[in-house]
Amino acid sequence: MTYKSESNKFLVLARGDDGTLKVELDDVLDGYACDLDSFFIAEGVRATLTSAIRSREKQLNIIRQKAIDHALILPQVSDLETADLEQPAEWNGIQIPLWHIVWSGVLSAGEMVNPPEPARAQFEYRHADGRLIPAGNLVGISSHQKKEAIDISGPSLVKIAGVIEKAKAKLPIRSYLIEPKPQNCVHIAFNRANGTV
Ligand SMILES: [Zn+2]
Repeated sequence: MTYKSESNKFLVLARGDDGTLKVELDDVLDGYACDLDSFFIAEGVRATLTSAIRSREKQLNIIRQKAIDHALILPQVSDLETADLEQPAEWNGIQIPLWHIVWSGVLSAGEMVNPPEPARAQFEYRHADGRLIPAGNLVGISSHQKKEAIDISGPSLVKIAGVIEKAKAKLPIRSYLIEPKPQNCVHIAFNRANGTV
């Protein structure tokens, strides 16, 4: 599949070392990426679109990787690298999917990540905004999984946010947020009410 935004001049799509595209778009997000390019050109800011649509599987991989990064120790998981996260696991006398426990552990490790489907966090965790969230909190899926969001990265997140602020007047941008390292991007959520979904 070829995207129109592959011809962008200043807001380019992320590619791997071998040149393969690292982002998945649909027609609506591809159109927004093209529209945004003109704002980046006008402001003279070069940036990279690093992430867009994430499937359930991609979200599970993100959760797995964060669990590995934090060396989470969970009695239900012998090897995080190879564990089948969709398998049921024993938890407080009931069976729940293993990802549910791993995702809850990642939250408690301080990484704000969405579950691959709406789910209740099994442990208490501290939100990125400082609030202590009790166990049992219901968390929805990511706006990336809903095909509503893109991430843009570059040398200056502040300059990128400045471009998005200008674009907000013309494009259906619902909100945007600077996410410092390790995400190191500006997360942009769109309203797709007038789109194809
Ligand atoms: Zn994002």
